[in-house]
Amino acid sequence: MHELSIAHSLVDLAGDAAARAGVERVSVVHLRLGALAGVVRDALEFSFEVASAGTPLAGARLAIEAVPVRVFCPRCEAEAELADVQQFRCPRCGTPTAQVLAGRELELVALEYDEAAAPLGV
Ligand SMILES: [Zn+2]
Repeated sequence: MHELSIAHSLVDLAGDAAARAGVERVSVVHLRLGALAGVVRDALEFSFEVASAGTPLAGARLAIEAVPVRVFCPRCEAEAELADVQQFRCPRCGTPTAQVLAGRELELVALEYDEAAAPLGV
């Protein structure tokens, strides 16, 4: 399951950040997940629980912000949000487009320790 290897990477990354910040426990891990990232959200949440066991991330909540797919339409010369990720067409004029501007994200955004959220600065 490829979500498990992603979860292990997240735990490593977040664990390093927590160690640099001098904290022993992380309460929330904020993640941005694009609709095109190829990651199944439920599987990632489950994998994160498995991968974080016995680490400073154990018991931390994975807060996932879903990022919609945004494309650039050459005809409208504008950005648009895709309504359906199966159809890469401008929602305004219907022109097919493959210029994806957003939606492939899989990014660790921030960690929350006991109280405050700390930006990672990565
Ligand atoms: Zn258009």
